[in-house]
Amino acid sequence: MIIRGEVCVGCGRCQPYCPAGAIHFSGLKSEVDRETCLECGTCLRVAICPVDAIMDDPTAFEYPRAVRKVFSDPTAPHIATGIEGRGTEESKTNDVTGRVGPDSVGVAIEVGRPTLGMGLPDVQKISRALARAGITEIEPCNPIHQMYADESTGDLRADLMGERVLSAIIELEVKKDRLPHILRVLKEVAKEVDSVFTLDVYSLLGPDLEISKEVLAALDSEGFPWRPNAKINVGLGRAWEERRAS
Ligand code: SF4
Ligand code: SF4
Repeated sequence: MIIRGEVCVGCGRCQPYCPAGAIHFSGLKSEVDRETCLECGTCLRVAICPVDAIMDDPTAFEYPRAVRKVFSDPTAPHIATGIEGRGTEESKTNDVTGRVGPDSVGVAIEVGRPTLGMGLPDVQKISRALARAGITEIEPCNPIHQMYADESTGDLRADLMGERVLSAIIELEVKKDRLPHILRVLKEVAKEVDSVFTLDVYSLLGPDLEISKEVLAALDSEGFPWRPNAKINVGLGRAWEERRAS
């Protein structure tokens, strides 16, 4: 994002809206720190500037800087998925897509948060740790998948290592019995990650709407406190109907 210095009147109203703390006074005007700015677009969208001094940086749409925008601006559709946001549609609509079946578990590692953001080397630390442990089942529809230089090593493309984003999600789908292994890897790599990450584990409910005992046992045994969340979408059951019919 850019603040046109010749227009800005230095009122400072835009500064508290920046989730990255990238807008500062420079003399009597406000200025965007290019390195810290995540191109999330919040300062522009809130339309707080009384003189329209805030404008998109034209380079925000050029690779590799464009990665900041697609992972940080919730209104920017991602080229890989065609959906707005950092994850895949499938993980949120599993009852329709049936991507994670009864024997599997989905794992989403959400790296970074507003006010913190994160550098993409943090994603690489996690993807490398997973790859070293033999876990390379990265969801192909996930935007992160496009960033890989080598899935077998977890290396991301070198030209992305200077970029920062608000957050990004690494998504995996594995058999349930591999979950404890993944949790142990994440506990170890957490010591190296500079930002923060949260962990989502998702699976189908059982016939009596119970959460998988295997999944809960894995979380408990590895010391991960869990909080249940349910999400039900219109279209419930379609995937199972289609599977049964095929
Ligand atoms: S685009 Fe986002 S990160 Fe950049 S200055 Fe505006 S609010 Fe801050
Ligand atoms: S709101 Fe507009 S005029 Fe006020 S400091 Fe920000 S850019 Fe400058």
